[in-house]
Amino acid sequence: MSKLNLVLFGPPGAGKGTQSAFLIQKYGLVHLSTGDILRAEKDAGTELGLMAQEIMGRGDLVSDDIVISMIRNKIEAHLDAKGFIFDGFPRTKAQAEALDGMLSAKNEPIVVMLALEVPEEELVKRLLGRGAVSGRADDQNESVIRNRIHKYETETAPLKDYYGAQGKFKGINGVGGVEEITARLVAAIG
Ligand code: ADP
Repeated sequence: MSKLNLVLFGPPGAGKGTQSAFLIQKYGLVHLSTGDILRAEKDAGTELGLMAQEIMGRGDLVSDDIVISMIRNKIEAHLDAKGFIFDGFPRTKAQAEALDGMLSAKNEPIVVMLALEVPEEELVKRLLGRGAVSGRADDQNESVIRNRIHKYETETAPLKDYYGAQGKFKGINGVGGVEEITARLVAAIG
């Protein structure tokens, strides 16, 4: 059976993590969040984590080489997965091309990119709200949040065209109740 490999896409604060939790349950998928992996490295105090910490604290992107090799290791560690949800990856064209290379070598391509769409002012509000309870430093400073959104617009949003050219892009309204948005995603997966 072919694997259900999904890219869950969208700006910081779009709800990718929240929605991933439902989708992994429903479809039995493995969740790969580069942000979660980087934060785990930081908490473990590894060299990689300490280096990434500074970059994440500014709201800049960690280098392509680092995140690509993290994802490669995770894919190799879950060869029996029914599929993956890629959350927060790919974030650049180089990352998308590397991911295509890894998956096509296995004949298990990305099936669809689900792009959650949320207006900027709503994102800033959500992220500041999350920062107030989660302790995530990059969610507590409005200029860091705006930098992340800016990086998303310039480096990451163009990937909609990359997947669009493969006929795999689906835009999803990311404003509304959590369950309502889940239903939109499930309908788009089909
Ligand atoms: P958010 O989507 O809210 O910004 P993430 O947890 O996805 O949160 O990412 C947090 C930070 O981790 C990013 O601002 C960036 O510094 C780093 N990061 C995560 N994924 C990537 C990636 N694919 N490429 C480069 N940097 C990344």
